[in-house]
Amino acid sequence: MLLLVDTGSHVKTLHIFGATGSIGSSTLAVVTKNKNLFSLETVTANSNAEKLAQIAIEYKAKHAVIADEKQFDVLKKALSGTNITYAAGRAAIKEAASRPADMMMAAITGIAGLPSVYEYLKQGKRLLLANKESMVTAGDLMKRRARESGAEIIPVDSEHNGVFQCFEEQNRDKVSRIILTASGGPFYETPANELQNVTVEQALKHPNWSMGAKISVDSATMMNKALEVIEAAYLFDLPPAQVDVLVHRQSIIHALVEYNDGSLLAHMGMPDMQTAIAHAMAYPARLNEGGKRIDITALAKLTLVPPDTLRFPSVKLAYHALGQGSEACIALNAANEAAVGAFLQKTLSFQAITRTVEKTLEKADNHAICSPDEVLDYHHHYEKKAQEIWKSF
Ligand code: NAD
Ligand code: MG
Repeated sequence: MLLLVDTGSHVKTLHIFGATGSIGSSTLAVVTKNKNLFSLETVTANSNAEKLAQIAIEYKAKHAVIADEKQFDVLKKALSGTNITYAAGRAAIKEAASRPADMMMAAITGIAGLPSVYEYLKQGKRLLLANKESMVTAGDLMKRRARESGAEIIPVDSEHNGVFQCFEEQNRDKVSRIILTASGGPFYETPANELQNVTVEQALKHPNWSMGAKISVDSATMMNKALEVIEAAYLFDLPPAQVDVLVHRQSIIHALVEYNDGSLLAHMGMPDMQTAIAHAMAYPARLNEGGKRIDITALAKLTLVPPDTLRFPSVKLAYHALGQGSEACIALNAANEAAVGAFLQKTLSFQAITRTVEKTLEKADNHAICSPDEVLDYHHHYEKKAQEIWKSF
């Protein structure tokens, strides 16, 4: 068998797009634990130029890019006297994705990750996909580009990485369904009449996972699972009816794959993204160190139950969007990004997020979408629609 990561004789070069975030930090932690196997090529961030420069210097990256052009001087100053090259602006982020590297960790949040992901796929190398929004909004385009270039897309989202590990491609026609688990987030037991008063601070406190702000809110509304259902349908080429969701409050089982012969393969791990990241970076080999290990004897009880779609209707919206087509998936994502942004700025209530997505989806059309630029155009169109909708609440 081909060993991708062998004895360190061939160090793999790595881009980390979104290096200052939660997935970025977990990826750096995996690099630290496996020092001789990976070397950093490019690191990027949105606006924290000092943190980006610190990372670039500590990990000896070759190139650093900050999206916010106003931070260019800060980055320049912080990197002066080093050999690290630097740039600023959105175009520079996309451009950096064409610099050669064996792997790219796609860990930018939201649709902002799409241009660099799509650009990198041209190289025909390995995309480590954390940025689910790109697959949700441009799944067909990304898969086509990967097929053309020979690129691999290895899922990093823990549920999808779990499915990937249990999915026997040679028995694809014997897979009856895949199951993504959902923690249910911080409000799963909160009575419906109290959801209206949920604060940003409460929404950001996820019971099991430590993550960036946007995905934490997505987990609280369960829109994260809606995005993941769409992501899974594209990634594994399955009809929506074969992608199920079960609520599993303990976040130990991340995914299951059920076969026609009655076998149900489960992927288990601690709620620690380093496990999925380490797997994706080394596949088909395994690293010596990744995430925390489970103390299997300490697991008193694992529960799996269907989601409460009355209080959390988000997951239902994903099936609706998938049934309609890619424009509806873009509309769902755009309305959610806009509404979560407004909630984080405290100008929209928690419950209005899902309502906005639902109403925006009702307005979605079904045009053929042929390029990532068109995806971005539709995204902006539905963001505006979402804003009009919540103003009418
Ligand atoms: P985060 O907010 O902690 O980090 C986001 C990173 O992207 C930061 O480096 C930030 O500077 C950069 N960024 C944000 N907006 C940008 C923009 N407009 N242009 C350029 N760079 C920008 O987020 P995260 O929790 O690390 O999540 C990153 C992605 O991974 C998301 O798509 C999320 O859904 C996915 N994901 C995260 C987790 C997790 O445990 N955190 C798990 C599964 C999937
Ligand atoms: Mg996930």
